[in-house]
Amino acid sequence: NLSQRLARVVKTIKGEARLTEANTQEMLREIRIALLEADVALPVVRDFVAKVREKALGQDVLQSLTPGQALVGIVNRELAELMGGKAAELSFATQPPAIILMAGLQGAGKTTTVGKLAKWLRENLKKKVLTVSCDVYRPAAIEQLRTVTEQAGADFFPSTPQQKPADIARDALQWAKTHYHDVLLVDTAGRLAIDEQMMAEIAQLHAQLKPIETLFVVDAMQGQDAVNTARAFNETLPLTGVVLTKLDGDSRGGAALSVKAITGKPIKFVGVGEKLTGLESFHPERMANRILGMGDIVSLVEEAQKAVDEKSAKALADKLKSGSRFDLNDFLQQLGQMKRMGGLSSLVDKLPAQFQAAAGQADMGKAEKELKRMQGIIHSMTRAERAKPDQIKASRKRRIATGAGVQVQDVNRLLAQFDQMQSMMKKMQKGGLAKMMRGMKG
Ligand code: GDP
Ligand code: MG
Repeated sequence: NLSQRLARVVKTIKGEARLTEANTQEMLREIRIALLEADVALPVVRDFVAKVREKALGQDVLQSLTPGQALVGIVNRELAELMGGKAAELSFATQPPAIILMAGLQGAGKTTTVGKLAKWLRENLKKKVLTVSCDVYRPAAIEQLRTVTEQAGADFFPSTPQQKPADIARDALQWAKTHYHDVLLVDTAGRLAIDEQMMAEIAQLHAQLKPIETLFVVDAMQGQDAVNTARAFNETLPLTGVVLTKLDGDSRGGAALSVKAITGKPIKFVGVGEKLTGLESFHPERMANRILGMGDIVSLVEEAQKAVDEKSAKALADKLKSGSRFDLNDFLQQLGQMKRMGGLSSLVDKLPAQFQAAAGQADMGKAEKELKRMQGIIHSMTRAERAKPDQIKASRKRRIATGAGVQVQDVNRLLAQFDQMQSMMKKMQKGGLAKMMRGMKG
């Protein structure tokens, strides 16, 4: 699949010490094939490859990145850009209830997605949610929505196949208003293919409800067809976003890449399973990384390069190489760098999945707080104290603790942690710091 294929290309690129016209060309060709095989539309592929080439040629390669890594970075960024760049969020900029109208073909996953969204909105945004089904063609469809709504812990507005969709929508809206629901999710009927009656019906619902969000639900396994259907809907119905379902299946992934380029509408959510928990808000960058199959390692490297003041990193390396001790001034600087890189949790976000699982077990919020506290304590020390922490005695500890607004035992703990770190640093010095750093970058 796309991910495996691109991951293979990426591996080759990374190893390239030098990018020549010839090997760049070769790799762009591989990328092109990978995208086409994933069922990405040809014009989108052409455009994409052209952009990557243009950026690659004009690129000042960061000293510490190999040209190969730099190219991977470009591919990664352009993939994210292709999918809309930044995550597109649901809008609630309206008098409540915010109405979300679902559109899409039969079997796309509309009803399931309404259930998932109800749960997501309740849990993540603390919204009071009402759902209603305007699918009057299949009695089972209304029952299905009732079931998933109950599972989601949201409110359900009953309807029957004897009613008209417009009347159901009107009554549900009235109910939502008088019962102070924040969000009204409107499920609709789909057909096997786009047909006039379905389009007329949903266009009427749209005109009547004036939803703040009109989400087109589409099955990722349909590949280019999915994207073409989205485009056709978008011509009749002003969509605000797309939900790409069944990304957990063996879809080739191409739909995710071309939806934005072809419809102009962002993907807002992806469905990744039949269960109600199988919904994720869509982050183009994360998706790009997933497609490249390598976690966010590339942008991690890039951000590290950005955040770490290269000069000061070198100064530290030199200092350690010369056999000097790593002191609290250095430690403080390192903590600051970590913060500039977006803190611990954002670092964890960027790790490949297998590491994320392990890191997820640690309490990141707590760790971040701890880091901040450590910084506060070190800030309350004088430079001289930071340079010679072992000279910090009881009275100084009290002063530092007061300055940082912590207890003396917190200062003690920090000093003990620092002690450990210092001896670790010593070992690294012996093992050859330069060698280790090279290893990290490669
Ligand atoms: P609707 O006709 O558009 O309302 O589609 P449904 O919500 O009834 O879903 C059709 C089928 O797709 C059902 O069997 C769902 O369980 C399944 N489905 C929906 N979303 C997903 C998803 O993200 N992943 C997987 N694997 N199946 C899904
Ligand atoms: Mg349905």
